[in-house]
Amino acid sequence: MDWQTFLSKAGYRLSEPRKRIMKLMEMADKPLNPLAIHRLLREQGVHLGLVSVYRTLELFFSLGLISQVFQPDGLVGYLPVSFGHHHFIVCQNCHKAVEFLGSEDMQELIQRIHSETHYQVRDHLLQFYGLCPECQALLENGDIN
Ligand SMILES: [Zn+2]
Ligand SMILES: [Zn+2]
Repeated sequence: MDWQTFLSKAGYRLSEPRKRIMKLMEMADKPLNPLAIHRLLREQGVHLGLVSVYRTLELFFSLGLISQVFQPDGLVGYLPVSFGHHHFIVCQNCHKAVEFLGSEDMQELIQRIHSETHYQVRDHLLQFYGLCPECQALLENGDIN
């Protein structure tokens, strides 16, 4: 199911600002924060208030259509997520983010957390940092540290 169908089925209107904001994130390979989205919209000649950008992102986030991605500089950005269990890996050099499939690899860790803390684990927040293939090549050429 695409996000438009999902949004309509959840009873939300497919407004022009919502379409534009999602399109920006779909085309981005780096996480976008509300300010960046606001600025990109203005460059397209769309004057949407920052509060509306925040509200739209909140809605998408609450419906699970986008994910928060924590950038190496500490800023939080957003990117669309596929349905199902996914996480992101973010390049520490160029901040490009890629989604990967979540799996049952966490079971061992979850079991250990339960034994240590006696908490019942119900959810998790997981993200990796690394170097993307392009930046690995830059590193080999000595262009970055
Ligand atoms: Zn990179
Ligand atoms: Zn996971």
